[in-house]
Amino acid sequence: MIACGRCSSCLAGHYNLCEYAIGKDNAAGFLSFSANGGLAALVEPEAVAAQAVSECQLAPGDDVLIQGAGPIGLLTALMVRISGAHHVLINDMSQERLALAKQLGFHDTLQAGDLSALRQAIAAATDGHGVDDAFDCAGVQPTLTGAIAALKNGGKVTVIALFGHPPVVDVRALLKKGARLLTSYGYANRFERVIKIIDNHRDQFQPIITKRIKLTEVVTGGIDVLAHDKQQAKILVDLKA
Ligand SMILES: [Zn+2]
Repeated sequence: MIACGRCSSCLAGHYNLCEYAIGKDNAAGFLSFSANGGLAALVEPEAVAAQAVSECQLAPGDDVLIQGAGPIGLLTALMVRISGAHHVLINDMSQERLALAKQLGFHDTLQAGDLSALRQAIAAATDGHGVDDAFDCAGVQPTLTGAIAALKNGGKVTVIALFGHPPVVDVRALLKKGARLLTSYGYANRFERVIKIIDNHRDQFQPIITKRIKLTEVVTGGIDVLAHDKQQAKILVDLKA
């Protein structure tokens, strides 16, 4: 993301909220890291996850629900685990995506489509308490409603996903739990730390890169594949191949 540096958001340091942004964080250290087996491709999306985990002030030992096991969901799960979470539960309707989550070492996966199935699974995993934090990385009505339902009293939902349609928020459900609803949009000043985190945990991040293709295969082997193959998370394009 390239921010303008002059609008009121930029001047306040929140350049992720720049009204005139066109697309990159501080690139310092990024280029030297880019030789690293493709992991540099994960810095930008992991910066989104780092921003969200930081916004929600995740505490060591928190139990966490991740709604959605797409690339941002999985990268958020990794950031949450590295940050000291206890249970990291990942919920998605796709068996293929959950298989990838398991490959990343997340064995508390749920395929809970309706609220009662989700409530049951969360209760079983947390001794009936609910989770401290839920991240909505899918951005549809059921994932947000489910995230709120999964919370323990005093818990937090952090929305990362961009909703296609404005969701209904059950304020009463939040109120009765003394819960908070937070949002996290993009990232600001995260690259430097995210590069260090990925570098320290390379083995954990490597499985996110599910495929490597040549530049000539971008459409057939990349864009088309991502549209329907849920086993894919990040596809790398090798410009030299
Ligand atoms: Zn700006």
